Amino acid sequence: MENTYDVIIAGCGAAGLYGAINLPRSCKVLLLCKQELTLCNSALAQGGIAAVYQPTNDSTDLHKQDTLIAGGFKNNPETVQILVDNAKYEIQSILDMGVDFDRTPDGELHRTLEGGHSRHRIFHHKDSTGAAILDTLIRKVKTLENVTILENTMMVDLKKTGTGFSVQMLRNGTLSTAHSHFMLLATGGIGRIYEFTTNSKIATGDGIAMAYNIGAEIRNLHLIQFHPTAFNNHHTRECLLVSEAVRGEGAYLLNCHKERFMHLYDERLELAPRDVVSHSIVTEARRTGSTDFYLDISRKDPEFIKRRFPMIYENVLAQGYDMTKEPIPIYPCQHYLMGGIHVNTQSETTVPNLFACGECSHTGVHGNNRLASNSLLEALVFSRQAALTISERMSTCPDTFEEAVFPAQENAKPLPTGFRTEIRHLMQESCFVIPDTAKLLDGFERIKEIRKTLTTESYEIDSNYVEAKSLATIGYLILKEVI
Ligand SMILES: Cc1cc2nc3c(=O)[nH]c(=O)nc-3n(C[C@H](O)[C@H](O)[C@H](O)COP(=O)(O)OP(=O)(O)OC[C@H]3O[C@@H](n4cnc5c(N)ncnc54)[C@H](O)[C@@H]3O)c2cc1C
Repeated sequence: MENTYDVIIAGCGAAGLYGAINLPRSCKVLLLCKQELTLCNSALAQGGIAAVYQPTNDSTDLHKQDTLIAGGFKNNPETVQILVDNAKYEIQSILDMGVDFDRTPDGELHRTLEGGHSRHRIFHHKDSTGAAILDTLIRKVKTLENVTILENTMMVDLKKTGTGFSVQMLRNGTLSTAHSHFMLLATGGIGRIYEFTTNSKIATGDGIAMAYNIGAEIRNLHLIQFHPTAFNNHHTRECLLVSEAVRGEGAYLLNCHKERFMHLYDERLELAPRDVVSHSIVTEARRTGSTDFYLDISRKDPEFIKRRFPMIYENVLAQGYDMTKEPIPIYPCQHYLMGGIHVNTQSETTVPNLFACGECSHTGVHGNNRLASNSLLEALVFSRQAALTISERMSTCPDTFEEAVFPAQENAKPLPTGFRTEIRHLMQESCFVIPDTAKLLDGFERIKEIRKTLTTESYEIDSNYVEAKSLATIGYLILKEVI
């Protein structure tokens, strides 16, 4: 296999695929995907993608204002402006590629409302928008002759060289290397650092940990969004998200007495932004002494519910609840990372020619709290920013590739079990929705110890070891910021 490329992209979610599609066809690209192409957070996105596209009563100023309000005005106004201004271009671009957004009976694109948005501006494909976008991007990228896609191929290490980057990869148990002038990290989120998350199992923060290891600035990793309404069956680690749009369509939140309670915490009631609702639920749990909470949309027309939320309806029904007839149990869980590898408006990190986009990056658009449906948009807008910058710089690259050497595995032993479980438990106990100050310090010391063990002892390189190392680095960075 050839092993030199103009660009290596780690990650095949919305960000990585759209980045590849927007690079020039003269650019030789390697796309790495840790598992199969459809296993990622992008595939799980339900509610939709926010955009001011062919507006009626909407404007980019309003979209910007809503984004800033949700983010507590801690957003970067410059990147927010780029986000809202470019939205119409990206929507048109994915429509042209064939994304099948829902339409009204008269053929107009249907726009729905979600918490924190002052206008109906969420474009969606039923309640599985991410899968619809991802399928289209996968189909498109597979037609591109300049792009080599390697599924089930994990980036296990990354080094900076004099001419760019060297990547160590693991595929079918075999290690190999590839080299490039530019690197685009699109490795997604960190949800698997918590016991309960909506994230797919690939979300172990590998790209963030590797960028940190080569000196890139990481910012605001403690800004984690806990989604208020994950279906709560108390035993699966990957929790089904009950989309914000269910509240947007009128569902009520109920406490353990099956009473509405949001009026005690925020005048926007169920449509308050996510952080406010999650915080309210955890505070209400303390007030009532119970973590039993429910979401109730059963007063709406059953046919509307089944048509509007077919995926949620079927999944919840399979677990014994008919949402057209009764409230369903919910509780907050980890959902999204606002922080990440810090990038500028062109998606470039503090390491020259190292780019990052999507959930692993910190563009600053979300501030303290992401507005619903802004992340798919961020993934598209800022992966294209990276692609544009890389294409402008390509002609300045040398013809040669320096190749970094990765350490040989000497006396490597298998990773003992238990590290990942322990990290997840420490994070869930100490740093969930409202951090527990008493547990934070002990948790931090223990995660530091685990990280030291994993980085100084010699373990066999497999996905379990690489992910454990990533989780330890991410846990260390989060708790360091919180303490
Ligand atoms: C349940 C759920 C619902 C959501 N709903 C919405 C919504 O309605 N609207 C919205 O805007 N956002 C939503 N989000 C958030 C949004 O889906 C994500 O933020 C966004 O899709 C992230 O895209 P990404 O490309 O950055 O990461 P991902 O889509 O997660 O892709 C990451 C990619 O990186 C690869 N990867 C990771 N590590 C490695 C490695 N070491 N080597 C090689 N490859 C690697 C993975 O295999 C994967 O291909 C939702 C998220 C979840 C979990």
